[in-house]
Amino acid sequence: MEVLKGVTVAKAITEKCKARIEESACGKPRLAIVRVGEEPGDLSYEAGAKKRMEKAGVETEIHVFPRDVENGEFLQAFRKINEDPAVDGILVFRPLPKQIDSKAVEEMIDIEKDVDCISPRNMEKVFEGTCTNAPCTPQAVVEMLDYAGIELTGKRVAVVGRSMVVGKPLAMMLLQKNATVTICHSKTADLPAVCREADVLIAAVGRARMITGDYVKEGTAVIDVGINTDVEGNLCGDVDFDSASEKAALITPVPGGVGAVTTSVLLKHVTESHFRRNA
Ligand code: NAP
Repeated sequence: MEVLKGVTVAKAITEKCKARIEESACGKPRLAIVRVGEEPGDLSYEAGAKKRMEKAGVETEIHVFPRDVENGEFLQAFRKINEDPAVDGILVFRPLPKQIDSKAVEEMIDIEKDVDCISPRNMEKVFEGTCTNAPCTPQAVVEMLDYAGIELTGKRVAVVGRSMVVGKPLAMMLLQKNATVTICHSKTADLPAVCREADVLIAAVGRARMITGDYVKEGTAVIDVGINTDVEGNLCGDVDFDSASEKAALITPVPGGVGAVTTSVLLKHVTESHFRRNA
């Protein structure tokens, strides 16, 4: 049984981007981070993203607005960032405070610079199978499967969870890779039996250690997207690692799994956008 750590996959993606940027004759890619307020989760992700960009030679600019920023003022500033030719990618922390017209931001963002897929046009492209800026978390799952050399054509994949953040876009991305995808949710009858049909099982449920070994067929690849805290306050995934790993051929841990790959996906998207914009 192989434990696939996120750090291994993140490192491989970072090295590839770094090599491409070092050879570039068109300058360095640039990511603009837009943050409203001082949410601890945003600050921590921002620090991780900044560090990841630095490792590969991507420049970062951070635009911080007070939590009570006026809608008009914010949209005007956002338009300026969006139109700046030096900016290749934009990461906007969401949800935005309620006085801000989030829909206007989603509609306005340049789809090429939309490196975390907030634009409805980019999400439509995920469903069409033509998106180059898929949302970072589902893309991190795809990167992990690619890194592990798991060929998806003809495979049965079960995705547990149908949110627009993870489950649905991920299912579409796996479908594009010719997998036969079953999307499961809270009303799925006999979920363990449905999951046991899968060659690849992906958990994006938000319930601590719900997916036990009883849900896993012998030899399955199990990818855990969940980030939860258990009753003792420890960080854990949706998968019960101990029992699932007795059956799985490959499993990702939490912490240190999918979550560790998301900033490298962001890096990959900014880098690719830079080269497309300068082609
Ligand atoms: P969400 O919006 O709460 O959706 C959860 C999904 O799981 C829903 O579709 C729900 O079904 C389904 N579900 C809930 N209980 C179930 C049960 N008992 N049996 C079967 N399905 C059940 O959550 P999310 O935003 O997709 O996030 C899922 C998990 O991924 C969370 O732990 C979150 O923290 C984590 N996450 C991780 C990252 C990362 O970077 N690693 C990023 C984003 C999210 P219904 O639709 O029927 O309600």
